[in-house]
Amino acid sequence: MLSLLLLTSSALAWKHTGFYWPDDRYPIEWWHDGDPLEDSLPEDYCQPVIQSSWDNWQEAAPCAGLSDEYQGEVDSMDGRSSGDGMTTFHWEDPSDEQEPGVLGVTYTIGNGRYSLTKNGQTYQEVYDSDIVFNDGVDFGVTEDILNGICAGETSIESVATHEIGHLHGLGHSCEQGESCTDSDLQEATMYWSASGCDVSGIDPNIDDVTSMNALYSVFGTFAATTSTSGGSPLDVSFTITSDAEVTGALWTFGDGETSEEYPSVTHTFSKEGQFFVTCTMDLADPECGESSYTQTRIGYVTACDKPHPEEGNDGFFQIEAAYGRTWQTINHTDVSTYGCVDTIQWEIYEGSAAEGEPVQVIGAWSPTIEFEKDGTYTILMNVGGPGGIEGSKMTIDVADLGDRESLCATVPAMSGLAAAVGAFAAAFRRRR
Ligand SMILES: [Zn+2]
Repeated sequence: MLSLLLLTSSALAWKHTGFYWPDDRYPIEWWHDGDPLEDSLPEDYCQPVIQSSWDNWQEAAPCAGLSDEYQGEVDSMDGRSSGDGMTTFHWEDPSDEQEPGVLGVTYTIGNGRYSLTKNGQTYQEVYDSDIVFNDGVDFGVTEDILNGICAGETSIESVATHEIGHLHGLGHSCEQGESCTDSDLQEATMYWSASGCDVSGIDPNIDDVTSMNALYSVFGTFAATTSTSGGSPLDVSFTITSDAEVTGALWTFGDGETSEEYPSVTHTFSKEGQFFVTCTMDLADPECGESSYTQTRIGYVTACDKPHPEEGNDGFFQIEAAYGRTWQTINHTDVSTYGCVDTIQWEIYEGSAAEGEPVQVIGAWSPTIEFEKDGTYTILMNVGGPGGIEGSKMTIDVADLGDRESLCATVPAMSGLAAAVGAFAAAFRRRR
């Protein structure tokens, strides 16, 4: 799983926080607090400047379809209400959350559902997001700063535009301490810090807009339209869904094969394995131009041969006498392809054939079997999975070996089982 995570993060060309506003939460509903005045700003400036900060994004990224709607004031006399489902701007930091040096912070809470996967990243739906400005900071008015009336104040509109970017789900273009040599990223609205008297952050740059469009502009996604698990060779059909026109695609199926068919393709997975499927889709929209998205579905297809023993083993299992009439099984089924073995059944029959009713039926992976009396037994083991059912049969003669003196009763876990049971059997042989 580690390489998979690395692959996911390096595939991203921009940074998101992993939060996303679902369609049914638009327009984003927001309020500002019950004390509408930040003490360093003119009366009645706060609500309009937040409105213009929303507009900065909407004008810069029209294809993202952003919208907002002012809903009025909310009383925050008793502190910030976290998780109330309302997007609230707080000027006076009512819960005293801000540390010195901080201009503002966006607090976002997801609803716990991972609802969207784009370009290999999953996004959780936003449930609640609040923005809190530090009431210990001197903020300035855009018009004053543009007119040169500024003694180091921070542009409230720049900070608000930056925080609204976070509220939408954008991460920092560069983080504090990160070596960041790209000047566009340093000048982006989503850069981690802001200088005094600087109003450049009210104009989202191309990286900010690309990041916003990647979340909210027209995009595509693909999914299988037939079963993604089964016996190999396995035919799986995939199709791209998008509100835009699909103008091209490059599929990689994880088995070394590719295709450029679109919007649908059917691929035959002829080898056993679990496969990542990736599609880079080219999209065109009459108003929003062309875009290209890459989506990877991890471990999406499982194509299975019939179950088979691990290499070096003829049968699916061994069984060794342990003590008394207790025998220990050793399971040699190859489980190296995840998902290809999902059921198991052991049947114990009296006599030398698997006939009549079994005297025991066991569903464990590698059970310890206790026989009630001496005699000949037939052990039938079946394993099943998407590729079918296979198994082995063995006939054994059971005779009471006496007590379990000095024997280790530990039942080892599956992976260490063969070695541990080998030691177990050696101890037994010495005793006999
Ligand atoms: Zn930030």
